[in-house]
Amino acid sequence: MRRTTSFPPRALCCVLLLALVFSSLFAAVAEEETYDVLGDELPMLVNKDHPVAEDFVPADLVLLSEVLDTSLVKIKYKNTMAVRAAAEALEVMLEAAKEDGIKNWQINTAYRSIADQKKILDNKIKGYMKNSGLSRAKAKARALRTVAEPGCSEHHLGLAFDITAKGASAFKGTKQYKWLNANCWDYGFVIRYQADKTEITGFNAEEWHIRYVGKEHALAMKKANYCLEEYLESLQAKPQPAGFLVDDDEEDINFEDLIPE
Ligand SMILES: [Zn+2]
Repeated sequence: MRRTTSFPPRALCCVLLLALVFSSLFAAVAEEETYDVLGDELPMLVNKDHPVAEDFVPADLVLLSEVLDTSLVKIKYKNTMAVRAAAEALEVMLEAAKEDGIKNWQINTAYRSIADQKKILDNKIKGYMKNSGLSRAKAKARALRTVAEPGCSEHHLGLAFDITAKGASAFKGTKQYKWLNANCWDYGFVIRYQADKTEITGFNAEEWHIRYVGKEHALAMKKANYCLEEYLESLQAKPQPAGFLVDDDEEDINFEDLIPE
């Protein structure tokens, strides 16, 4: 007598085939949703005029604990992630700092999702409303001097780190701060928000916020004393100011095309 409870082989094949098709479709979609933040010739600009898309996720995110030597640096939150190349550049920089006798670093923040940023901004606004008695609009305006709108934070790229000295109440003036300020450019990092650029960046000075742009760009920006906005604008006006960025045969750079919508 034929058993009717067993699964018909043809149906099983169909289910397996469908599962295979869907899993590869999902894999393709998942791949498309991440963005190669270091794939462009110029550093990506993220600020209030250049937000990333709502679903923006950088490619190649890794846990910092997988890349950084925790004897050199404390990772404040163990799930902190960053783009691998930026984390590796940070490791190289911190090894060099150690050679110079500078240790005891701490990473407070690296990659942040848009949802994380929403929470941070909201908490800041609520804090100002509660503690300073400000209206929501005024509290938001004040909060936006130090916290970016969701989508407008450079931390969305996975290339920025908030770095400080372990145990220090303020970073500025520490030996770690002095070393970073003198040397980070050589390792591809810029101190993104400087006191003399607040009108352009829209942010108060943040001595602790470093952004990985790669060594060539970092050194060119240091030499010209440009923040990222000025640097990209200078390249648009003069496509080859630094000489080494574009070959004569290549097309002129239009950096607008390189910025994500
Ligand atoms: Zn930061």
